[in-house]
Amino acid sequence: MKRFLKRIGWLMALLIVGALAYTYISFNYYSPEDPDVEIDAQSLGFYQDSWSDCRAAFRNQAENMKSRFDSVEIFSVPLKSQTDNDLTIDFCYVPPKDTTEKLVILISGTHGIEGYVGSAVQQMLMQEFFQPEMFSTTGLLLVHGLNAWGFKHQRRFSENNVDLNRNFSDDRTLFETQNDGFVALYDMLTPKGELNMNSIGNRFFMLKAIQKIVLKGMPALLQAFAQGQYQFPEGIYFGGQNFEQQVEILKSVLTEKASSYSMLLNLDLHTGFGERGELHLFPNPVDDPVLKHSMEKVFAGYRIDWGDSDNFYTVHGQMVEYVSSLFPGKLSIPMLMEFGTLNTGTTVGAVKSAHISIVENQGAHYGYKTPQDSIKAKAGYYEMFYPPSEKWRTNAIHASKAMMENIWENFQEL
Ligand SMILES: [Zn+2]
Repeated sequence: MKRFLKRIGWLMALLIVGALAYTYISFNYYSPEDPDVEIDAQSLGFYQDSWSDCRAAFRNQAENMKSRFDSVEIFSVPLKSQTDNDLTIDFCYVPPKDTTEKLVILISGTHGIEGYVGSAVQQMLMQEFFQPEMFSTTGLLLVHGLNAWGFKHQRRFSENNVDLNRNFSDDRTLFETQNDGFVALYDMLTPKGELNMNSIGNRFFMLKAIQKIVLKGMPALLQAFAQGQYQFPEGIYFGGQNFEQQVEILKSVLTEKASSYSMLLNLDLHTGFGERGELHLFPNPVDDPVLKHSMEKVFAGYRIDWGDSDNFYTVHGQMVEYVSSLFPGKLSIPMLMEFGTLNTGTTVGAVKSAHISIVENQGAHYGYKTPQDSIKAKAGYYEMFYPPSEKWRTNAIHASKAMMENIWENFQEL
């Protein structure tokens, strides 16, 4: 009996060591598979590695459109910054030739670093998709680099550490929104001090996360994590305690350009959440049946992951919804388009994404223990929001072109 118990003990110990090793390896050497596409140099040509190169390429494409079209307006709005006097949001507006019926608004860089892919998609559409004959009753407004500071400094957030896509509203009560789930997870989500990627806590982050998942369940954790929080300026997903300057800028540009249209389609380009290589449609839940039906028509043939479905989340202070709120009588379709990178539908992918966000934020606030810690944290951030993979990048261009062809046509028929 004693020998039997001893054997069971050994077996249990082996199982635990095996499970720990598996967890450790699957988390620390996580590498999701790329989409199976042939790399195409023309698509890769739309990507640049600095905000100023992206801006220059966008402006260049806008000038090209201006020379091909009857009337294109190109303008920039400067952004205030404590450290930078060259930040701008850049706009390219194509009015329709006949009547102002429908307007498509396409925005990049709401989450700074995600703007590299958004900019590439805008450049591709400007060069390969938009043609003068498409604009008889439909207009187009391209907005480049809404969060130009984050875009330039390769952070998701603004200079004030604010997540712009949690900061848009016409009502200051947004800043009183409570996120008790975030408060409960505060210590885990907001570590202090210089970042050490080799600390036990970081190496075994997956174990800590599994414990929380078992206790609270993944949907509750995801909601707490990503809905936005208004209490901790040093934390991730901080929605601010004041409106960022972009709220007013967007309001004034749109009041001027969009008021005369009867229908709006607001598309906001993002990266990071979802399945690697998939272009997700990711709106907040919609109650209005007319709006919901219109959304299903415009995005027919594509899966829409409503924010209240499993494994997705609803956010506060969302930009595209704010745009709709500026025009209460109009049919205004808000849609977040998100290129997945780390397979966040899997447990390890979701935990990896959370960890990447947490350590990047820690490094940005408290610095890094060694230069290697900085390189490692930033490489993870890149992998999550601007993957270097040429297959991934080629696929993002192809997928967005195919989707835009469908959306444009469906929107015309609405
Ligand atoms: Zn985003």
